[in-house]
Amino acid sequence: MEKIKMTTPLVEMDGDEMTRVLWKMIKDELLLPFIDLKTEYYDLGLEYRDATDDQVTVDSALATKKYGVAVKCATITPNAARVKEYNLKQMWKSPNGTIRAILDGTVFRAPIVVKGIDPTVRTWKKPITIARHAYGDVYKASEMKVPGPGKAEIVFTGEDGTVLRETIHEFDGPGIVQGMHNLENSIGSFARSCFNYALDTKQDLWFATKDTISKKYDHTFKDIFQEIYDAEYDEKFKAAGIEYFYTLIDDAVARVIRSEGGYIWACKNYDGDVMSDMVATAFGSLAMMTSVLVSPEGYYEYEAAHGTVQRHYYKYLKGEETSTNSVATIFAWTGALRKRGELDQNPQLMEFADRLEKATIDTIESGKMTKDLALITTLENVTVLDSQGFIRAIRETMEK
Ligand code: NAP
Ligand code: MG
Repeated sequence: MEKIKMTTPLVEMDGDEMTRVLWKMIKDELLLPFIDLKTEYYDLGLEYRDATDDQVTVDSALATKKYGVAVKCATITPNAARVKEYNLKQMWKSPNGTIRAILDGTVFRAPIVVKGIDPTVRTWKKPITIARHAYGDVYKASEMKVPGPGKAEIVFTGEDGTVLRETIHEFDGPGIVQGMHNLENSIGSFARSCFNYALDTKQDLWFATKDTISKKYDHTFKDIFQEIYDAEYDEKFKAAGIEYFYTLIDDAVARVIRSEGGYIWACKNYDGDVMSDMVATAFGSLAMMTSVLVSPEGYYEYEAAHGTVQRHYYKYLKGEETSTNSVATIFAWTGALRKRGELDQNPQLMEFADRLEKATIDTIESGKMTKDLALITTLENVTVLDSQGFIRAIRETMEK
């Protein structure tokens, strides 16, 4: 069989631990036999990040701007224990944070739905995609412990000398205060990423904040979304037969639980952090969750939503059997290959991505799966496979 050709390379960001092991197996078993794979390779494994003073992470993000599509393996975000374990020069920042800061994007996370792994919420029939704003709010806040009686204020000092002042609270005893911010530009990028992704995937877009209580802060989010929607997207949405819908966050939560799924739920940074874990868990497993960073300029970076599965890696190093779920990492590759195919008008590459995804789902639905899924499935007569065995089973399904 002739291999599928590619015209433009994918930016390939390799990673750490068990996911690095899966990465190679996926390439060897599921990609290289079928595709003349063209990638520009960046090793984001912690050793090489340390050796290059993290320059490799920056370079990989810049390459994503050049080529438009990247696929990333999970990576270690170092903490004190990792600095010691890998004898690092310093506690390098999260690669995802660095890449996000360069691409300025929104992260979209969607569950991979298969028969036999049923959502905890009975009404959910289709995936719910969470779009999380990845800038500001409580993640860039200043906080203070108030020691005793006194007045706390917010003060803005403009470069032109304007001074704005607002009382937070007149304390008559100890307490706490917090100041946070966001940027009109960042909120606008977030809105455009969400509208574009809705058009791309032909799904309705829901957005919710607490604008009734937060009349300036949250209300600005609501207003910016509405202004951009009216000016740039209303006609496109109508032509695509999809809808933009704004509501209060508490109303949104109630509607999500009653819904069938099949839409994108745009969330402010904190809401997205919390709700994506809830949605992922209710759909079954973090190992069955795709994640893509979409920049407002239209650059795409695909990855798995889970980490490097450290506990399994240590077993693997000891030569013990592992049964690590590679589905989210496979879907990171198929997402990137499909997008590459779309941009290069390469239908064969897009068909291949569909075929590999279908083979992955069919394999699970036929009862062959990794241990994490076997523990929660409603299917009977399940065969639990090890990491390599599961990937080989997918290859067999695909070749049939
Ligand atoms: P994790 O790698 O997501 O794994 C946590 C646990 O979830 C695992 O021990 C395993 O449970 C289960 N799990 C996750 N993915 C699985 C899979 N594909 N197949 C089967 N089980 C899976 O999170 P972590 O252990 O907290 O973090 C490890 C490293 O990953 C950290 O250094 C962190 O910095 C990094 N991280 C990277 C990213 C990223 O690059 N996007 C995201 C998150 C974390 P059992 O052990 O019970 O089997
Ligand atoms: Mg979280």
